[in-house]
Amino acid sequence: KLLNIILELKGNIRVFCRVRPLFSDDGTGAGNPYISYPTSTESLGRGIDLIQNGQKHQFTFDKVFTPESSQQDVFVEISQLVQSALDGYKVCIFAYGQTGSGKTYTMLGSSDALERKGLIPRSLEQIFESSRSLLSQGWKYKMQASMLEIYNETIRDLLSTNWAGATEKGAAAKQYTIKHEANGNTHVSDLTVVDVCSIQEVSYLLRQAAQSRSVGRTQMNEQSSRSHFVFTLRISGVNESTEQQVHGVLNLIDLAGSERLSKSGSTGDRLRETQAINKSLSSLSDVIFALAKKEDHVPFRNSKLTYLLQPCLGGNSKTLMFVNISPDPSSMGESLCSLRFAARVN
Ligand code: ADP
Ligand code: MG
Repeated sequence: KLLNIILELKGNIRVFCRVRPLFSDDGTGAGNPYISYPTSTESLGRGIDLIQNGQKHQFTFDKVFTPESSQQDVFVEISQLVQSALDGYKVCIFAYGQTGSGKTYTMLGSSDALERKGLIPRSLEQIFESSRSLLSQGWKYKMQASMLEIYNETIRDLLSTNWAGATEKGAAAKQYTIKHEANGNTHVSDLTVVDVCSIQEVSYLLRQAAQSRSVGRTQMNEQSSRSHFVFTLRISGVNESTEQQVHGVLNLIDLAGSERLSKSGSTGDRLRETQAINKSLSSLSDVIFALAKKEDHVPFRNSKLTYLLQPCLGGNSKTLMFVNISPDPSSMGESLCSLRFAARVN
């Protein structure tokens, strides 16, 4: 089957599925759980079945996290990938899924309890800790963070202290032009890039980004789930005894909600938003699919997101996609779409 061929060819692309718990305020809908996990001898299964109208749709991913999986359980499975950014790899970790399926919980987590912290704070803690322990082997690292949002194919700098940034229009609008430099770096003009060396500094920046997102949203009357959030950590390391150098990048991306709004009869701004999201999500899937099949032409230029991440998606880079699923019975249709999307890139 085609899927198996792709599985063999896919190289550095992995897909993990995560199903969030069912909440008491989720609709009861059909009542019965529509998601099940085929029994597996491994501690973490790879299969997930979705039953719709008595018909079973079966999917296999690199890992499947159930509602019982904790943030730490998930982090354990990505920590090596995160570590490889310190070895000079370019890494992208995406969270894909409909609004309410647990993307932000997976990426940022919840601030109400330490064990509910997400992959972004956990990854940075590990990176800072490892970089400190590598000092004894002569490695000195410099880390730089940036955070941006892509809304309607437009980049917004979330660390800009220029609050007008949220309403930029017309002549004063910054262009945030994306350029790929010969050394493989991506340069976004005017984007704020901050040197960081502790988790406290990063936490501060994450709060600043969250605030800037919410200001932007109110001013532009948009919904939280309509933009892609991209956290980038650029890592440069030099070994003082061997003079060896490494340049790694860790991108952690909370994608815009994948739900298909067109059916609900969106018009005007909402319709344009939906079209922009659909376009960039399908461009992402096209790019990952082309990379998995090792096609000569990879359509990076079809969306801002894929163009921005181009150097971190092809070649010697590593990509992981989480497909987040809601067990809410009213989400069945969207869940099936998400699983199909993920199976295509898997
Ligand atoms: P999304 O970002 O995809 O719209 P959220 O991450 O905001 O979804 O999740 C929706 C709600 O479900 C939030 O209140 C979040 O805290 C909660 N949630 C999501 N995943 C989990 C999980 N694995 N365990 C506990 N709560 C979760
Ligand atoms: Mg979210």
